[in-house]
Order: sequence, then C-alpha cells, then structure tokens
Amino acid sequence: MRRRCVVCGKTFPEGQGIVIEHSRLVLEFHSKRCLARFFRRLFQDAPDISCIEKTIKDILEEFGRVSEKTVKKL
Ligand SMILES: [Zn+2]
Repeated sequence: MRRRCVVCGKTFPEGQGIVIEHSRLVLEFHSKRCLARFFRRLFQDAPDISCIEKTIKDILEEFGRVSEKTVKKL
C-alpha cells in the first residue's frame, strides 16, 4: 500500500514516513520536514491558538518534558 504525503504529495511505501491516524482523519507525511511544515501551518491558521497552546502544554507535561524554554518557543 502506498501512502501519500499530505503536504508535498510525494508517495511513499507503508512503513516509511510518519502516519497519524485518528478516527476518520489520516495524516501522512513522507518526512519529518513535511510534518513540521504541516504543524507550522496549523498554528498559523488555528482559529484559537490559545486553545492549542493549552493542549500542547498538557501533552508536554504528560511526557514530562515541559520546560520554560519549550513553552516560550510556542
Ligand atoms: Zn512530503
């Protein structure tokens, strides 16, 4: 099965790249660069960035990797 990068349209074989599946949403990225590009764009277009920031902070806390530096960067 071939996957298709949602950012650049490049196809890549199953097992490579990064695939995020959640309910009906499937996000396929052929490289970490495209994943980063997608998220930068998501932050740009997000209608309520504070809501996303809160979610991200919660996740970082869950991973135990939250630091002042990380949060400030967002
Ligand atoms: Zn790509």
